[in-house]
Amino acid sequence: MNFTLHLTADCNLSCRYCYEKHSHARMSTETALSACELMFSYGHKKNGFSFFGGEPLLCRKTIIRVLEYCEELNRAHGASLSYKMTTNGLLLDEAFIETANRHKLEIALSHDGVLQDAQRVFPDGRGTSRLLEPKIDLLLKLQPNAIAMMTVLPENVGRLAESVEWLYARGFSRVNTAIDCRPNNAWDDNSMEELDAQYGILAEFCASHFDDERPLHYLNFESKIACHLESRSCIECRLGYKQPSIAPDGSIYPCNQFLNIPEYRIGSVSSGIDEQARERIYQMSLLPEASCDGCTLAKRCRHHCACLNFSMTGNMHEVPHVQCVHEQSVIQNADRMAELLYERKSPRFMRVYSKASNK
Ligand code: SF4
Ligand code: SF4
Ligand code: SF4
Repeated sequence: MNFTLHLTADCNLSCRYCYEKHSHARMSTETALSACELMFSYGHKKNGFSFFGGEPLLCRKTIIRVLEYCEELNRAHGASLSYKMTTNGLLLDEAFIETANRHKLEIALSHDGVLQDAQRVFPDGRGTSRLLEPKIDLLLKLQPNAIAMMTVLPENVGRLAESVEWLYARGFSRVNTAIDCRPNNAWDDNSMEELDAQYGILAEFCASHFDDERPLHYLNFESKIACHLESRSCIECRLGYKQPSIAPDGSIYPCNQFLNIPEYRIGSVSSGIDEQARERIYQMSLLPEASCDGCTLAKRCRHHCACLNFSMTGNMHEVPHVQCVHEQSVIQNADRMAELLYERKSPRFMRVYSKASNK
């Protein structure tokens, strides 16, 4: 069983695209430990938490207590445990990363490459890149496979490829990028066209570093290639079952973007999950998106992410136009990258390709 623990909506930064309300509420240790007990009560063989914020490291003591308590509880269960956390990195230090390593907590760093100081800033507008340099060194020394997560605003999209290249040169081998998805974002035809051009540049760049000694894994493209080669859907959204979200007050919701919306509350850490409420929302999520009828890209597109649709359109089945255009561009450019790799008989690509086609 996996849960997302929303420890706080508070943050020490004020990024230009942030959608958090930055309230000071924090999850109490008692609530977090009840979440651990609830997780183990299902008796699953695989358990884990994703620590989420705001900035989760503002609740560092709670995270460490959860890791220790899960270890204690697991003596009687013998499940495999895994944890994830995305942080802005400012509060990272050696002691925390070593604790993370002991408990198999994977740390992802939110960093916008060359756009860091334009987008990820302190509340007074100061940039953060200089302060993050030693944190990046430390993270990559202790977790060399840490992922860099980047977001791009429409006005800065012309520097997307340069930013991914910067992150790779800085030592990150796994990079994931996202576009600003707030409901009133400023994407228009021009910025979407530029986004497509940037993905085109990235298709060439990623293909040229695919077989390096330290290969670049650009996850946006690789996930599209993998699901195509393995003939499976790109996302399996089991809303409410895959990764329910626990709010700071201990209430449970089906996924991140439904947090704190009363009609989507499906339980609490003290009373457990209301199975009827969860199943009702899950069944609702299975309805197809009418606008995607007959689209040949449907299997490879994220159109069925209820969270994303709901956060941008208020309807879990209404795919925002920007998302549709974006997905088409990612899929086409991922295919371009795959073609380049196939033409060059890339050893790593041919290995993965033959494994997938033999399945
Ligand atoms: S790091 Fe930036 S995007 Fe994340 S919660 Fe803080 S202000 Fe928001
Ligand atoms: S709603 Fe989106 S984020 Fe949530 S489980 Fe489904 S696919 Fe994943
Ligand atoms: S590309 Fe657009 S129409 Fe096709 S499945 Fe995705 S969102 Fe739907």
